[in-house]
Amino acid sequence: MVNIKKWEDQDHWVEIDLDRCIGAEDCIIACPVEVYKLVNGKIIAENIGECTDCMACQDVCPTNAILDHSAWE
Ligand code: SF4
Repeated sequence: MVNIKKWEDQDHWVEIDLDRCIGAEDCIIACPVEVYKLVNGKIIAENIGECTDCMACQDVCPTNAILDHSAWE
């Protein structure tokens, strides 16, 4: 079973494949506004409302676990 989780707020959303997430923390380091946090070895997008759509997190993830990430159209 695929374990994909989505976090969203009014303006932004992100989908992360938690099976692929290895807790490398690259997204935590890359994100300029501290959207991510590590909980029990997996990432959570706790502050998705702060996202600036820079896409740094998607670029640095070593396992491509950050599947889709965007502002609403
Ligand atoms: S797109 Fe940028 S601001 Fe948004 S969660 Fe990813 S690294 Fe953080």
